[in-house]
Amino acid sequence: MRVLVIEDEKKLAAFIAKGLTQEGFSVDTAASAAEAEKQTLNGVYDLIVMDVNLPDGDGFTLLEALRREGDATPVIMLTARGSVDDKVRGLESGANDYLTKPFAFRELVARARVLLRPAEKSTDVLSAGDLELDVRSRKASRAGKNIVLTNKEFALLEIMLRSAGRPVSRAVLWEHAWEGSFEVDSNVLDVHVGRLRRKIDGGAADKLIQTVYGVGYKIDAPGRG
Ligand code: CA
Repeated sequence: MRVLVIEDEKKLAAFIAKGLTQEGFSVDTAASAAEAEKQTLNGVYDLIVMDVNLPDGDGFTLLEALRREGDATPVIMLTARGSVDDKVRGLESGANDYLTKPFAFRELVARARVLLRPAEKSTDVLSAGDLELDVRSRKASRAGKNIVLTNKEFALLEIMLRSAGRPVSRAVLWEHAWEGSFEVDSNVLDVHVGRLRRKIDGGAADKLIQTVYGVGYKIDAPGRG
């Protein structure tokens, strides 16, 4: 497993690199956005750990550029402590996860392992019935018809599909789509799920998204246990 660590703080970069190497990863480091862009061009990495504040730009711009080029390498962003905006922006830019500095090294390793889980890595297309979501290209379709999703709708649908057949709590849905905001705003959540529902189930006889009273929502294909 090859990891690229993009971090300009030399001590921290060395600490992460040393730790990940000990965990069996093969690690490269980049100290600037420009350096990172060169290294990620080949798309040879299984994981990227990226600091938000880089000397020649910010991680968000770099990440957005990567995603635009179709680079779907999982990215863990390192954000400044307590910066909710950073977390939200990171996820909206296409980050798969984030860590707030300072973080425990074992947390980084745990998150890296989750992102590198083989089953998840090979599954680019999540589905329930005739609904499909390509998590790399972020394209959704139902019965072959394309559905345009907002970032929030994508996040909500993704987490529901990853738990297809099982209820996803309001707290988990909120945490996934509104990262960094602790208080669940039920109205806002319901509005977004409502819009998602209309897009997914609006014209279909089989309703995939179900309300689980007292818990949250679940997505399930009809006839499935
Ligand atoms: Ca930095």
